[in-house]
Amino acid sequence: MSVENNMNPNEIWQAILGEMEVLLSKPNFNTWFKNTSLLSVDKNQAVIAVPNEFTASWFRKKYHTKIFEAIKKHCPILKIDYKIISPQVNEQLKTAFEIKLIEPPEKHPDKTPTSHNGLRADFTFDSFVVGGQNRLAYATALAVAQSPGVVHNPLFLYGGVGLGKTHLLHAIGNQIFKNEQKAKIFYISCEDFCNEFIYSIQTNTTESFKKKYRNVDVFLVDDIQFLSRKEGTQQEFFHTFNALHQKNHQIVMTSDRLPREIPHLESRLSSRFGGGMVADIQMPETETRQAILKAKSQARGWDVPNPILEFIAQNIKSNVRELEGALNRLVTQAMITNQEITPEFATNTLEGIIASNSHKNFDPSEIIAKTAQYFNLAVNDILGKSRERKLVRPRQIAMYIMRDELNMPFPKIGDVLGGKDHTTIMHGVKLITNLIKKDEQTQNHITLIKENLYSAN
Ligand code: ADP
Ligand code: MG
Repeated sequence: MSVENNMNPNEIWQAILGEMEVLLSKPNFNTWFKNTSLLSVDKNQAVIAVPNEFTASWFRKKYHTKIFEAIKKHCPILKIDYKIISPQVNEQLKTAFEIKLIEPPEKHPDKTPTSHNGLRADFTFDSFVVGGQNRLAYATALAVAQSPGVVHNPLFLYGGVGLGKTHLLHAIGNQIFKNEQKAKIFYISCEDFCNEFIYSIQTNTTESFKKKYRNVDVFLVDDIQFLSRKEGTQQEFFHTFNALHQKNHQIVMTSDRLPREIPHLESRLSSRFGGGMVADIQMPETETRQAILKAKSQARGWDVPNPILEFIAQNIKSNVRELEGALNRLVTQAMITNQEITPEFATNTLEGIIASNSHKNFDPSEIIAKTAQYFNLAVNDILGKSRERKLVRPRQIAMYIMRDELNMPFPKIGDVLGGKDHTTIMHGVKLITNLIKKDEQTQNHITLIKENLYSAN
């Protein structure tokens, strides 16, 4: 950091707070500057932590110039960036942290299932952290592993990318293998299944292909949505499925969506896929995310301080894979550059990931509520079917915000908007997308609704 006089960011911020306190009325100062801090400052920019988006936009509008001038007295910055950091984390981040290496937990080679039939030894039930959003998937998977072919057959696990579906699928395989080493357990990605089937046609070996798959005891198929549009393979899969199911052999499938939402999938298949147990898996809430980070770092022999784990858990909300990625990046970067994990270091290293993760933690129902409130309507007006123009436009704006902010699939938006067809949603989203390019008023509506959403979160 090239701050000219050797003050650290904390000291600079104290000096600036002193100046602002003189310039502003006491209530104003207390309202806006409570829970703020200077995270980092260099020749280029100063990064200021604020507790919410509302404060950030207020700072940009009202205090930007004053703060800018004040910081420039200490360091010749070019710009200011505002970062939203919760008051608790902000408090903890004010002190620097050191990362220590601890001994990795002892491995028990006899207890850890070795790689078997393509199963990953580290994807077990033990290494899976359970929280509200994945409890059902975990519980049903565990039940299946304890009594294959008996309780839930087939088991269908679905959810977005990086949320632990593959992990649970391997955990089932590993557990069954541990209990019954003679069981013929077969794990395959659906993509490989499709390719292998096509290859067997080309090489005239469909008979041995059929034999191979119709004789397994436990069939674990990952990312079954891949069957979409593959008519020939679908037919083959149908027969494999029936052969196994009739013998009460366990089938477990994962998918990024519900069986009936997989496009171009024969209905006889989607009804069979949904005919046993269907369990969804979603992004775990902050505490579970932190527990996952703790478990992952312990498994790697890293002793990362809790406040840093909490900081990552609060900021990475997209999926567990990214959460892990952020942790790895932070720790490896700290080791390579031989630096302590300080607040600046954490925010700078994770800047890109955090930016792409921000603003994604609202519930669809909050979007509906805030849109209704903004247009002075009742929530039921948004959910209803009336074609009145004064209701249709807000409804379409709600659709657009759900798509834009949460990247929700069209059918899902249709569901939460009171059961609307996905084509209606697609049309609405497209219409608003085009409209905001030319209509400033619509643009403003959306910005203000989003601002309300951010400040409530
Ligand atoms: P998916 O198949 O849903 O895309 P994965 O099963 O590949 O996701 O999970 C991505 C990463 O996140 C893996 O490293 C996995 O171990 C980890 N992960 C996901 N959920 C959990 C959890 N609840 N506890 C521990 N690790 C998890
Ligand atoms: Mg997967």
